[in-house]
Amino acid sequence: MDSKDKETKTQPGDTPTTACESCDNRECPAAQRKKGESEEDFSERRELESRLCRIRRKLVVLSGKGGVGKSTVAVNIAAALQMAGKRVGLLDVDIHGPSIPTMLGLQGAVLQNGPDGLLPVDADGVKVMSLGFLLPDPDQAVIWRGPLKMGAIKQFLKDVAWGDLDYLVIDSPPGTGDEPLSVCQLIGRLDGAVIVTTPQKVAAIDVRKSITFCRQLGVPVLGVVENMSGFACPKCGEVSAIFSSGGGRRIAKDMKVPFLGAIPIDPAIAASGDDGRPYVSAFAASATAKVMRGIIAPLLALEADAK
Ligand code: ADP
Repeated sequence: MDSKDKETKTQPGDTPTTACESCDNRECPAAQRKKGESEEDFSERRELESRLCRIRRKLVVLSGKGGVGKSTVAVNIAAALQMAGKRVGLLDVDIHGPSIPTMLGLQGAVLQNGPDGLLPVDADGVKVMSLGFLLPDPDQAVIWRGPLKMGAIKQFLKDVAWGDLDYLVIDSPPGTGDEPLSVCQLIGRLDGAVIVTTPQKVAAIDVRKSITFCRQLGVPVLGVVENMSGFACPKCGEVSAIFSSGGGRRIAKDMKVPFLGAIPIDPAIAASGDDGRPYVSAFAASATAKVMRGIIAPLLALEADAK
């Protein structure tokens, strides 16, 4: 915590003060200690709030299970927003499989401490922070008990100096359990969730759970992306349905949430992930990159609403 925050620390019985020096908003939820909240929790929450309130829109990318392309979609959403001229941060809190450093060619990046906290790493204009930067060995499995894990995520969120951003895209741990729950609760006031699924029935069932999860937490569902939807021929680009397709679209319709687009299986998507270049910029002229840019349209509309 820096000395400025210490000076503004509220004592029990104090009248509401401003939360921090980021803004003058006395209505801010961090301006007052919550009932039953300890001094330490209050101070931590205020510290986190002072960082997050400089971010206009906070979006979480969720999936019912791992391996459906959640990180791929998160990376490409962040890159597409950056290409649209936005100031973008990408936060990877997928504690068991932080793959964002690899997908952006940032393996081995050494984190630097700035005057205001841990500095995100630049990837062609996107500010990136990943739990992966903190793991000494990329082959190491992370075996942490729940509270330790949550403590690490909390500390991490609190320490990153994002500065002013238009969008923060958060690559959440998969599923609807404790980990994504803690992330969503810690960030608080999320502007929306993008849910990623594959077309198969079993994966699509998980989408229902993810939508219910968002509804219970009061996080608006921006929509569903169906990834690995058919196979795009590397020679002619024609997409053939190798699994049953349309599961994501159907569920989106049933659950009355927008369908944001279908991304085919394309070897170039896997290769660009391995090479550390977002597909949407490396293959900007492709039909699939167009689909990816379509996914961000409602996200851009969010910012337009804020003006
Ligand atoms: P998750 O975050 O859901 O675990 P990832 O985004 O890490 O999934 O994707 C898992 C693997 O599948 C990665 O190697 C990625 O490059 C690859 N992949 C994801 N989407 C596609 C796609 N549409 N076409 C080809 N490969 C893909």
